[in-house]
Amino acid sequence: TQEPTQSSQDYALHLLQSIFGYPAFRAQQAQIVDHVVKGGDALVLMPTGGGKSLCYQIPALIRHGVGVVVSPLIALMQDQVDALAEVGVRAAFLNSTQTFEETLRIEKLMREGELDLVYIAPERLMTQRCLELLTITPLALFAIDEAHCVSQWGHDFRPEYIKLSVLHERFPEVPRIALTATADQQTRDEIIHRLQLEDAYQFVSSFDRPNIRYQIVEKANGKKQLLDFIQAQHSGDAGIVYCLSRKKVEEVAEFLNENGINALPYHAGMEQSERYRNQARFLREDGIVMTATIAFGMGIDKPDVRFVAHLDLPKSIEGYYQETGRAGRDGATANAWMAYGLQDVVQQRRMIDESEANEAYKRIQSAKLEAMLGLCETLNCRRVHILDYFGQTSQACGNCDTCLSPPISFDGTVAAQKILSTIYRVDQRFAAGHVVDVLRGIDTDRVKQWRHDQLSTFGIGSEKSEAEWRALLRQLIALGLVEVDYENYSSLKLTEASRAVLRGETKVQLRQYKKAEKAVKHKRQS
Ligand code: ADP
Ligand code: ZN
Repeated sequence: TQEPTQSSQDYALHLLQSIFGYPAFRAQQAQIVDHVVKGGDALVLMPTGGGKSLCYQIPALIRHGVGVVVSPLIALMQDQVDALAEVGVRAAFLNSTQTFEETLRIEKLMREGELDLVYIAPERLMTQRCLELLTITPLALFAIDEAHCVSQWGHDFRPEYIKLSVLHERFPEVPRIALTATADQQTRDEIIHRLQLEDAYQFVSSFDRPNIRYQIVEKANGKKQLLDFIQAQHSGDAGIVYCLSRKKVEEVAEFLNENGINALPYHAGMEQSERYRNQARFLREDGIVMTATIAFGMGIDKPDVRFVAHLDLPKSIEGYYQETGRAGRDGATANAWMAYGLQDVVQQRRMIDESEANEAYKRIQSAKLEAMLGLCETLNCRRVHILDYFGQTSQACGNCDTCLSPPISFDGTVAAQKILSTIYRVDQRFAAGHVVDVLRGIDTDRVKQWRHDQLSTFGIGSEKSEAEWRALLRQLIALGLVEVDYENYSSLKLTEASRAVLRGETKVQLRQYKKAEKAVKHKRQS
């Protein structure tokens, strides 16, 4: 091992410039590189696009031996290795897509220390054969990419990641650098604990993406609103539209195409070749709108994505942040736009309830969904809310929808009481649609059938539109004052917390309903 000096830092900078062609390190890259070059363990929390790769690539070049990169993204290994080869770095990968001859060739290069970097899938790394290979390979470092995969709290849990603690046990003298873009405290703790990184230095970057404007609108007709948004602000721009289901992906892509927008679908149900083709076109051509499920995007590095739109509610703030984070990587202004409504809340809750997962997991998912709803319903700056979730304090940004046109909050206690008492009067046995009909005094067949026109609450909410009541109801669900019972026709139920509101002991501050407006054209600074 060598003693790092000023000159080793100079050397790192020299490699950055001469090999990668960048003039300077970004943010904490220089410190991270220096720390790992010296043989220290590191946990790097950096947003997507922040430049995590260089944090292990450069130390691997400086330290003696081969840098082993553990990555679950097999599909991207070829590209990563090709890109490195192009700048003259000796890189290779080991995964299940290779022939045996190819494997033998790479293994030999490793043993002889003739590689700078080798990317290995975790399940491959854990094989007896591979671990033995590592004992006779000169090792520069272990980089554990996408380290949040070790966390059950995270959304990409991979059981084989848990076994990676073996690396520390078997090769205690080899520095390890774990990297992730997911930084909430639970995930962080789990990474440290499971990978035995208690002594690792933590490098936590800012998660702020100042060039992204966050905007969450009330959903009326989602597709049409999306079209208005694209036409008003993003004609000819590259963007990504996320939808929950494959069917909706197809539908929305078709709808956009019919309306003159160059959209391509992407989801896991498509032929792999077609998926690759669409992805390649999105990366290469200008102005393509990728309409996709969340299967799309991990590891996609397209700098000029000008907007990311969500037509369905993401499951968590991590997911939302990661997906919206694919916009504006070049630093120029970009939009994160989402339309959300009552149906989204109901749908996500149902998916959690109906999943096969165990209770503990469902609780985690519910907590994450609640945090996401909190972001949607917040009366404060969206950015402050997002950063706070990642443990970072900040000032109102002046650039998100709630900063630019602050939502008007009002004392919604009376409105809430109207909703709650109506739910109570219909015996907590009816879904949102019927409850709203009763509130508004609409004489439907079902209302007559159940004689709900006789109720004291029939028509007490005639002053508000259906959309308005649904928006208020959604907030009560988000606030935990109303529950949706999926086992029973999505009927609405009162919660413990709602009693105090009904009794007038607790006030409820709600967000005033804003009718879906036509998107305003914002001039983009470039
Ligand atoms: P992450 O893994 O954090 O998502 P990457 O390592 O893929 O990010 O880097 C994202 C982009 O930023 C890449 O195109 C990379 O080449 C570029 N990049 C990283 N570090 C620098 C730097 N110091 N100067 C300029 N560009 C950089
Ligand atoms: Zn703001």
